[in-house]
Amino acid sequence: MPKLACPCGFVHDLSGIPDEGWVAIRDKDMEDYIQHERAYADGFNAPEESEERKASDAGGRAMAQMTTLFYECPKCGRIMWRKTRDEGFRIYARENPKA
Ligand SMILES: [Zn+2]
Repeated sequence: MPKLACPCGFVHDLSGIPDEGWVAIRDKDMEDYIQHERAYADGFNAPEESEERKASDAGGRAMAQMTTLFYECPKCGRIMWRKTRDEGFRIYARENPKA
């Protein structure tokens, strides 16, 4: 079961699909993301090796590359951010815990 440990001791359970995290897309990438999403959906059930299916698979990969993941710790409020799929999680502590 994939898990993500916060420095405070809380452990995010990443095994559910979808999970409790946030998925974000850069505003400047949104139009491209929507186009990839359409290609992904249109060819999702097309026969393998068809052009529609290849476009769908490429769209799915592009969508995954455009998204970034956040997890907010419910215990301490830290944000764990995986900015790109190729890097680990950056951890940001909250400066105003009472806000
Ligand atoms: Zn925490």
